[in-house]
This record gives sequence, C-alpha cells and structure tokens, in this order.
Amino acid sequence: MSVHVFPQLVIPETLAAGPGPGNTDARVLQRFAAAGVADHMQPDVLRGMVECKHMLRAVWGTDNVHTFGVAGTGWSALDMMFSAVQPGDKVVAFANGTFSGIDALTLRIKAATPAELAANPLDPQAASVTVIEVAHGTSVSGEDVERALAEHKPKWAFMAHWETGSGRINDLAGFSEACERHGVLGLVDAVSSLGVEDFRIDDYPGVAGWASCPQKGICCLPLTYAPVSFDDRYMDSLRATGASTYANHPIFEARHWGIVDGQDVEKGTYHRTHSGYAVAAFHEALRLTLEEGLAKRSQSYIHHEDVLRAAVETMGCTVTSNMTSLVVLNLPPALAGREMELVQHCRAQNFGIWPTLSAPVQVRIGILNQLNPRAISDIVMRFAAAIQDLDGTVDMDAVTDVLDQRYGTAIAAE
Ligand SMILES: *Cc1c(COP(=O)(O)O)cnc(C)c1O
Repeated sequence: MSVHVFPQLVIPETLAAGPGPGNTDARVLQRFAAAGVADHMQPDVLRGMVECKHMLRAVWGTDNVHTFGVAGTGWSALDMMFSAVQPGDKVVAFANGTFSGIDALTLRIKAATPAELAANPLDPQAASVTVIEVAHGTSVSGEDVERALAEHKPKWAFMAHWETGSGRINDLAGFSEACERHGVLGLVDAVSSLGVEDFRIDDYPGVAGWASCPQKGICCLPLTYAPVSFDDRYMDSLRATGASTYANHPIFEARHWGIVDGQDVEKGTYHRTHSGYAVAAFHEALRLTLEEGLAKRSQSYIHHEDVLRAAVETMGCTVTSNMTSLVVLNLPPALAGREMELVQHCRAQNFGIWPTLSAPVQVRIGILNQLNPRAISDIVMRFAAAIQDLDGTVDMDAVTDVLDQRYGTAIAAE
C-alpha cells in the first residue's frame, strides 16, 4: 500500500480584519518560535506558568486565586466555566447573537437531565434553563437581567460581556448588580472584551466566573491559553457538587499553574502535558498587555474604531455595533443582499473580514492589534476597493478626507 505524501503545507499571510482571531503580535510569534524543546515539568516552563498566572491577575484586575489559563481557545475556557453547572440546575441565560447563543446551548447541555439529553442529544431542551432572547443588534440591559432574575430566581445567570456576533456590548454593571441583589452566581463570556476594554473583575462582585480566549484582545495564538477566573462562591459551589470532567476541571487544571487547595504554591504539579511554546507565547502576550497598559490600549481601540466607523459611514454603510474592536455594518442600499459576496471577494484577496454567522447577514470588520493609522487606512482602502469592485460607488475624496482629518499628519510621521 502506498502512502501519498502531500506537498509541504504553505499558509499565506493574511490580514486578519475580522472579529478574531486577531493579528498575533510579532513579539508573541517570536517567543513561540524561540522556545526550546522542553517538557511540561521543566523548571522554566513551570516558572513561566506561575508568572503567567500572576500577570493574568494583574491584567484582569482580580485577587481571585483561581485565575489561570485553560489549554485551548475560548470554548475551552467557557466549557470549564460551565463545568460547575449540574443537571437540573436552574439557569437564566441571555442570548443576543451567535456566541451567547452557543453559550446558552452549552448551558442547556450541562443542565439537562440525562432524559432531556437523551431526548435531543445535540440540542437538549433543559426545563431548568430559561434563555432570554434579545434581538440581534441590541444589547442586554440591566433591566432585562433584573426582570428575569426576579421572576425565575435561578442559581446561575449567564451573559456575554461583548457579543461578537452582532458587535454589541452588554450591561456588565447591571448584570453584576442584579446577580448580587438576587444572590445568583453570575457567569460571563468575556472572550471578546479581555485586553480590549479597561475593566476589572473585582469591580463586578456579582460575577462568580469569567472565561476568555488567547487570540482576540490578548494578541496571543489560538490553542495556547484561554484565561479563566473564579471567585470563592464559584469554587464553593464546585467543591460541593464536583464536575463531570477531568481535563477541564477548574481544581485539577489549576494545580499545574501552582494553585493547590485554594492556595498559591511555588510550582505546579502535573495535570496534563503543557506546551513550552504555548507558555512562552502566552507569557509574552501578557507582558505586552501590561507594558502598554489596558487604559492606554482601550483608548487606542476607541480612537481607531471611531475612524473606521466614520470611514465606512462615508461609504454609505450603516453601523449597528458598539464594540470598539469591531464594526458590524449593513452595506449601502444599492448593495443590500450582497454582503456574503463582498466578504468572499475580500477573503479571496487575503483580506480576512467576516459576515455575521446568524441572520441577518451583515459585514464584520475587526481591528484587533491593528491600532495605528497605517493599518486602519489600509483596511479602509481595501474595503472601499471591494465596494467598487462590486460596482458600488464610493466618494474616495470624502473617505480620504475622513482619514486625513482624524489622523492628520500621523500617517506621514510613521
Ligand atoms: C470568539 C468567541 C467565542 C469562541 O471562542 P473560540 O476561541 O473560537 O473558541 C465565544 N464567545 C465570544 C463572545 C467570542 O467572541
């Protein structure tokens, strides 16, 4: 039997201008590639993990001891966070887009009784989970949360902080306050907001569990470490009930990060094989974030999103998002209905913008780790060219005026 060896795999350089993954920082890639071959109990790998844990607490503004990385992507961290939810647990979940919709599905899977899961294994209708659907393009408000928690009195409540599917920021303060008022354990999907918005976990005491990802605001590589943080109430609940997982169990996983019996210890103990490459990359991404400072970075996102927004509005697009790392828009009326065609046209030129993944079809343009006038201008010009390629009209002078006015001499100075 002959085995066909395919030619070496070559993956081109693309401009990641979508909701994520972002443009992995060059410094992170360098540390990833420069890591030596070392096993997961080698002292520098273990030291790196402990240092990551401490830096992550600083980035996330928390004294939660159970703050560390989960090997994988956002869904790995979310799966760990939801692991404390037991069959039959009463849950209220707010869904206002693709990702919070999948989070709500995960919660229905976790909270389903064995009979409910067997009745519909991939989409169980768990009677104990109430999903509050909030219209695409709108945000979950504090009043939405207050009303639902008062009515249903669940053990757990869930909300996405930033819903990347529709580009909407949900009311984190309102969510946390409602959870506190009703003695509910809040769970938050912070996959899109960590490293982009300047917020501190410890300012939201109603939220017991947080989950994020490596490759969006943290500028690291996918499949490295997805941040999680759990407060004492979450850990008490988990200790009392257990969780039906080994690999993604918060207590077992924490041990490799040097967290044993709720205490920091000098070095980690074996939980699973960790990657020295991943540790080196994550370590550098956290250093990068702390060196720049979240206050400065979040201001930079606000500034550059505003320029991109103004530029696409000048092209006749309507923006419906309010996240600062992403613009979600409707094309000008003359191109309505051709969103998917435009996105595919851009992607064929290695300009990686995205459509929405659930109805209605809209265009999503992201600026993760693209925080300078040259990069934003490049994105604007490529997008304008794509509209023209589809025979749309763009007033290029007006677009250039927007860039000149907002950036002034900044481009020339670079
Ligand atoms: C990207 C994203 C996810 C999924 O993360 P992966 O890294 O793809 O696993 C979940 N929730 C939100 C809000 C996201 O933006």
